[in-house]
Amino acid sequence: MSAATAAPPRKAAVPKIRQTKLLIGGEWCDAASGKTFATMNPVTEEKIADVAYAGEADVDRAVKAARKAFESGPWHTMDARDRGRLMNRLADLIEQNQEELAALETLDNGKPIRDSRAADIPLVIDCLRYYAGWADKISGQTIPIRGDYFCYTRREPTGVAGQIIPWNFPALMTAWKWGPALAAGCTIVMKPAEQTPLSCLRLGELAMEAGIPAGVINILPGFGDTGAAIVKHRGVDKIAFTGSTETAQFIMRDAAPSLKRLTFELGGKSPNIVFADCDLDAAVAGSEFGLFFNQGQCCCAGSRVFVEEKIHAKFVEQIVSRAQARKLGDPFDSETTQGPQVDRDQFDKIMRYIESGKNAGAECLTGGQRVGDRGFFVAPTVFDRVTDDMEIAQDEIFGPVMSILPFKNLDEVVQRANTTCYGLAAAVWTRDVAKAHHIANSVRAGTVWINCYDVFDAAAPFGGFKMSGMGRELGEAALANYTELKTVTMNLK
Ligand code: NAP
Ligand code: MG
Repeated sequence: MSAATAAPPRKAAVPKIRQTKLLIGGEWCDAASGKTFATMNPVTEEKIADVAYAGEADVDRAVKAARKAFESGPWHTMDARDRGRLMNRLADLIEQNQEELAALETLDNGKPIRDSRAADIPLVIDCLRYYAGWADKISGQTIPIRGDYFCYTRREPTGVAGQIIPWNFPALMTAWKWGPALAAGCTIVMKPAEQTPLSCLRLGELAMEAGIPAGVINILPGFGDTGAAIVKHRGVDKIAFTGSTETAQFIMRDAAPSLKRLTFELGGKSPNIVFADCDLDAAVAGSEFGLFFNQGQCCCAGSRVFVEEKIHAKFVEQIVSRAQARKLGDPFDSETTQGPQVDRDQFDKIMRYIESGKNAGAECLTGGQRVGDRGFFVAPTVFDRVTDDMEIAQDEIFGPVMSILPFKNLDEVVQRANTTCYGLAAAVWTRDVAKAHHIANSVRAGTVWINCYDVFDAAAPFGGFKMSGMGRELGEAALANYTELKTVTMNLK
């Protein structure tokens, strides 16, 4: 058996931290201010490493480097096939360093190694390969217009893209942002989240090793002020942001003076609708996965589980037993299915929501408390008899807290599913095809899963209705975020 196909060890090795600096114009450097911040291990609550903290001066240098690489890179002016080839080379290097990257993600974020290995890093590779394929396929149209003219469109890269990402899928969010931007010929100033900068920095090293020209990808770890400086900078043409709806509102205000292009992938309170005619075992397993995966820290988490009254008792019994069977513990152990929440702020926020649910009169069937006294572990929690007006049914909790809301009929559940300000995703479990499509057409959400949950593919667009976002990521749709359409008309007389 070759090394590549050998089963990974049950206990992953703690990776070496190779990179903690800023990447600007192809050079790794300290912040101009000399400032650093600590990235923490959410299992031990101890520091992993000090990371350079980018300030305004660094943002300015990075934007200038990205502008220079955009103007004279070469990047968008190079043969598009070569751009695709460099992206594929980056994907190959990630593949060769998969185990290290998976372990780095687990160390910084706390997610189980089984998930980093099976989901995060393979999806990163897929995403970059998918967009590498697009690099030489971005084209315009010829348009038959009135008169003796030749009219055609070109899709040109938007320019310098500021990309700001959260901590729940640090490497994957990096790939979702880099893929379409690089394929389109844009250059990048990226800010990873303060909690989880390490995998993005390592990907930056691999991008340099792959031969992506200096200045095409710049990486600035930091906090909200670093992000705000990128948003306000006049040299940035476009902002792509994933995170909270509240921060998106700040970004919109900060971007207004320069009318930057904006795409947002934000929060959710996704309805997961379980009908009595479903395959119950599949629905219970899918509902568990849809909510508890990634410690509940998913923008599309199925956090409102609507269960038809007729099967309510059976569903509740099974989901509670599955929640109780989840294996909390050391995320480096491949048996572990649930790690800690990412940091103290998130942990405290979740515990406040759990109290809110109890005080509002929802029945806490299991969980509802911290596990252990070190690390941010929250017991898988299931609330039953949740009503639409409760805070736990309205707000994004972003933790392992499921709310079960019983319902009686189809029209009622559609109306209730649509009662939040969000519209990111929804799921329906039923054997009735007509009912499934009725839900798919009636729920105001960017993604609907039928008899499945969290099925992602680089080719399938993802994004939100209402306050869950603007624009779409992934698929051909995401290329529109990084291109401007130009119309050229030539007089043929
Ligand atoms: P957040 O504040 O929206 O953070 C997301 C990113 O935006 C981080 O890189 C953050 O920097 C940066 N940022 C913060 N303020 C900014 C500003 N004024 N201008 C530009 N960039 C700014 O989210 P959070 O505080 O980590 O989490 C809060 C809640 O957001 C969660 O509980 C959850 O409900 C939601 N959330 C949603 C997603 C999603 O996938 N849609 C992901 C994460 C969180 P820092 O490094 O300083 O944070
Ligand atoms: Mg960390």
